[in-house]
Amino acid sequence: MLFPQNRSLRDPHRLVVRLAEAFQALGGRIERGEVVGFDRSDRITALRLTDGRSLAADEVVLCAGAHTGRMSKMLGEPMPLETERGYHTQIMRPSISMGHSVIWPTRRSQDRSLFHDLRDVR
Ligand SMILES: Cc1cc2nc3c(=O)[nH]c(=O)nc-3n(C[C@H](O)[C@H](O)[C@H](O)COP(=O)(O)OP(=O)(O)OC[C@H]3O[C@@H](n4cnc5c(N)ncnc54)[C@H](O)[C@@H]3O)c2cc1C
Repeated sequence: MLFPQNRSLRDPHRLVVRLAEAFQALGGRIERGEVVGFDRSDRITALRLTDGRSLAADEVVLCAGAHTGRMSKMLGEPMPLETERGYHTQIMRPSISMGHSVIWPTRRSQDRSLFHDLRDVR
């Protein structure tokens, strides 16, 4: 299947860096640390970090990827979140570049260009 309108990123890291820069330009602050707990009464009031800091918060978004389930347990509201392993083959710097993603349903695979490489995802 060819999806001419489908869009993908060749360099996802660059997008994330730009988003972080835009967030900071709008007044956002980026804090780094490992969350080990939450302070809450009738609502969440703060995050607790391994280095002993406590960060006040009005709202919290759980976006810890594969660790989100563990984090939700810390809140006493466990989410049944499981991770699945996928596989891909990456051809480093091939002599071709794909303008579109191609999905092959019967082989359950998808091919696309990523940065300078070509990735086959299964
Ligand atoms: C090798 C590999 C290849 C992949 N290839 C593809 C691909 O080609 N296409 C695709 O669509 N997806 C791919 N994925 C999957 C993709 O990376 C994830 O689906 C995606 O990153 C999930 O985004 P996320 O923001 O939810 O979580 P993540 O990107 O995992 O981010 C979660 C963040 O939370 C942080 N964190 C975790 N616990 C805590 C804590 N207690 N305190 C503070 N921070 C914490 C982590 O350090 C991390 O920075 C791949 C994954 C892997 C591992």
